Amino acid sequence: MFPLKEKDRRVVQVLLSAGCCPRCVLRFCCVGNQATYRLSCKELFTELHMFLNDDKSKPGAAEYNQPPCKKIRLQDSEKNDDDTGHNGAAKLLSSECVLPDGWVQTCTVCLGILQDLCERDFVKKVCGEVDSAGYHFSSLVFSVSLPPQLLVREHATWLLVKQEVGQQGSFLTKDDILQLKEVYKWITHPLLSEELNVPVDGKSLFEVSVVFEHPETDGDCHFLATVCRDCFRPTKNKQSVFTRMAVVKALEKIKDDDFLQQFPYQLEPPKGSCVAQEIQCTHNSVYVAGRYNKFSRTLPQTPWVIDGERKLESSVEELIGEPLKKMFKVDHLNFSSSGREDVDVRALGNGRPFAIELLNPHRISFLQQELRELQEVIKSFAKFNSLGLKLLYLCANVLCSLQKINNSTDKIRVRDLQIVTREAIGHMKEGEEEKTKSYSALIWTEKAIGKNDINFLEELKDLKLDQRTPLRVLHRRPLAVRTRVIHSMRVEFIDQHHFHLYLKTQAGTYVKEFVHGDFGRTKPNLGTLMNMTTDILELDVESVDVDWPPKLDE
Ligand code: ZN
Repeated sequence: MFPLKEKDRRVVQVLLSAGCCPRCVLRFCCVGNQATYRLSCKELFTELHMFLNDDKSKPGAAEYNQPPCKKIRLQDSEKNDDDTGHNGAAKLLSSECVLPDGWVQTCTVCLGILQDLCERDFVKKVCGEVDSAGYHFSSLVFSVSLPPQLLVREHATWLLVKQEVGQQGSFLTKDDILQLKEVYKWITHPLLSEELNVPVDGKSLFEVSVVFEHPETDGDCHFLATVCRDCFRPTKNKQSVFTRMAVVKALEKIKDDDFLQQFPYQLEPPKGSCVAQEIQCTHNSVYVAGRYNKFSRTLPQTPWVIDGERKLESSVEELIGEPLKKMFKVDHLNFSSSGREDVDVRALGNGRPFAIELLNPHRISFLQQELRELQEVIKSFAKFNSLGLKLLYLCANVLCSLQKINNSTDKIRVRDLQIVTREAIGHMKEGEEEKTKSYSALIWTEKAIGKNDINFLEELKDLKLDQRTPLRVLHRRPLAVRTRVIHSMRVEFIDQHHFHLYLKTQAGTYVKEFVHGDFGRTKPNLGTLMNMTTDILELDVESVDVDWPPKLDE
């Protein structure tokens, strides 16, 4: 049964005469049956036609078939006599002036969105774009951006229908009308799902978005700016003040009379439909974290480039990042860590926590065969068994990355590699300054020393240092004096001019400067404490006491 009632007859006539497509007619008649909208435009037209001609004795039928419909067609064909394409067809229709089998006129309200732009051919075009973008995905979000003038046209049509309904003694609020976007979803989601063979899911991390534009009617919104000036304030990031939000706000404010003075009830039929200006695929970032050890004294943490020239061939960031890039098929990543060490400083012990944002990954899950190979590895990770299958795939991906990173180099080693949330990365950064770090340093002394000359260092607890910004970092950090604390020290005598110094310090302490004094810029320093010149030959980070990310069983 076609879900229209006798009371809708007059509204259907008015809307068809105003150049509405069948789906817009149904929306304004508050039809909430999804299946009805999924019929083709042609079928819907036939149904509407049958509905109106159901009882010719009713006054509506004849009226509908004759003047209003004809008027629009004639206007259209007269105006565009020289044009070809659908206007030619419109001319043809005008002479017939019966309800056409194929509706070729672009809808005055939805500008084609609920005509061709929601049907199978268009959805196939979108799916073609998705295929060629080369993503692996198991579900998707479909988002659509509509030109703001649709809101104005919707408003005008609502006023028209409200007046019509009012004459029948009823009332129609804007919320009663079925939302264009909602109806668009009802029609397109099943088609997308069918074509791509995955569910459309609002929670999916993979998004396909289409931006529709209709330049021909862009001017529709402009009168609102003179009536509701407040709503259209220029903002930095927006190209146009006529955003959807601003137009919605203005339409809420504007009085019906003011609107009608500026904008016609009867809308001009547009020459063409909206165009999909952009079809884009994106996948939300995936975040991984772990700890790294660095065993090399010639490896910088991040790529070392000065004036466009590479100084060292690799970096921790690249050694960890490249395998991840390949596995997850990403173009770009953001590397961050809990502090950093100099190029000649090793990171030992449990390693330094780091986190990587993988932007727009094209692949987060494994092929079946790869999965099977990894299954055994995963089984040993009891922790993962309780997680969902999707996460399991992700974990498999990460484990494989971990192996690849560790097999590719002996300069670094990664552990505790895992998927984390964006929020969790905050744990790594927060309180970074309050954390402690442990170092071991190889010290050289100018004067000969005996075992007992260095023992006093172990007695010093919570030694406060004033450190002026070191000369070596002055080019990238502002000049300042920072107070840092060396919590404790331990010594190991080697020979008359060498000893090992183990330090537990507040994070951010410049250890090298504490040893050689940095021309008196760090006070006190090892030299002033020992009353001789001292220098640092080697430095290792023994531990970074940030208990994130959580340790995983090896
Ligand atoms: Zn429409």
